[in-house]
Amino acid sequence: MVDDHSELGFETRAIHAGQAPDPRTGAVIVPIYQTSTYAQDGVGGTREGDYEYSRTANPTRTALETALASLEGARHTLAFASGMAASDALLRTVLRPGDHLVLGNDAYGGTFRLIDKVMSLWGVEHTVADLSKVDDVRAAIRPETKLIWCESPTNPLLGIADIAALAGVAHDVGARLVVDNTFATPYLQNPLSLGADVVLHSTTKYLGGHSDVVGGAVVTNEDELRDELFYIRNAAGAVPGPFDAWLTLRGIKTLALRMERHSDNAELVVQSLLSHPKVSKVYYPGLSTHPGHEVAAKQMRRFGGMISFSHVDGEQAALDVAARTKLFILAESLGGIESLIEHPGRMTHASTAGSTLQVPADLLRLSVGIEDGRDLVADLRNALG
Ligand SMILES: *Cc1c(COP(=O)(O)O)cnc(C)c1O
Repeated sequence: MVDDHSELGFETRAIHAGQAPDPRTGAVIVPIYQTSTYAQDGVGGTREGDYEYSRTANPTRTALETALASLEGARHTLAFASGMAASDALLRTVLRPGDHLVLGNDAYGGTFRLIDKVMSLWGVEHTVADLSKVDDVRAAIRPETKLIWCESPTNPLLGIADIAALAGVAHDVGARLVVDNTFATPYLQNPLSLGADVVLHSTTKYLGGHSDVVGGAVVTNEDELRDELFYIRNAAGAVPGPFDAWLTLRGIKTLALRMERHSDNAELVVQSLLSHPKVSKVYYPGLSTHPGHEVAAKQMRRFGGMISFSHVDGEQAALDVAARTKLFILAESLGGIESLIEHPGRMTHASTAGSTLQVPADLLRLSVGIEDGRDLVADLRNALG
């Protein structure tokens, strides 16, 4: 991998890895190479690594891939048109009819739908397990198991899986561990260094960070897997456009600053919720009372900006809070600079019926943004009444 700057600090790599000034013009910022095709030296004259056609490769996308690989401490990153496009390509690269995978009972709804409704049409089977319980995962393994698909923290209950332990379970049976690192981001957690084989990102969330672009990525150290993924991506075509790659790269430059602020603000909000009489339970891996806290503290740098909490008076009261906040915008998605609130039971998780996870009806999920944390606390206290 060229200029991954692996000896430099995270913040430096976020700004410089893959992002040297443009060789032709000196442009300090990687240009948006808004082109579908490239002039060739002669018929059949293109060399390996030259650009030919933007489904196959594009320089703005290459810069994004080099930067993200560097941040995950990885050899390879491939960018996709969305997190789901990345998941789809990965599943179709690694699995064949008759294969089996284990996924979390609180996997992202779109991931569960893809595996349960689409991959199943092609003869791929799955078992849902509580990934915070290593023995349950071991019990779900079959001779045909090729993958364990893990998220940590999970959505919306902020469960924690022990990534190193799950990597051990997978490797004992010759399977791979995939970690969807969307919630933690490479700033807070590097799954490959904990033994995972593949990292998946919805770059739509914290990596892009400004709620203005949809994208995904697959990260790995395996050369052969990278080549197979590259082949599938080029064959099937789920690539991000140059402007989307550029927006995501622009977001990545400030990831470290944003994640620190998201974590600071989340800690303020958690403290405020804990002392509020209308709040019966707060889900946040940074709390010492969280069942996964010890593992989270071992594998994460901080605990991020996602919080869920339950309202003592049940579903309607929770819905009323979501309708009353003024700064927390009622919306799906997460990871942007602005704070969002949503009701998982009726919004993000309404379509996951069939998964074994029961999302409490009194639950609200917060994506805590980077505004002044005191304003966020006041907004929530007003809405809670
Ligand atoms: C949003 C999300 C995805 C899907 O990504 P898209 O970019 O929306 O396709 C996958 N995993 C997690 C954890 C997510 O939050």
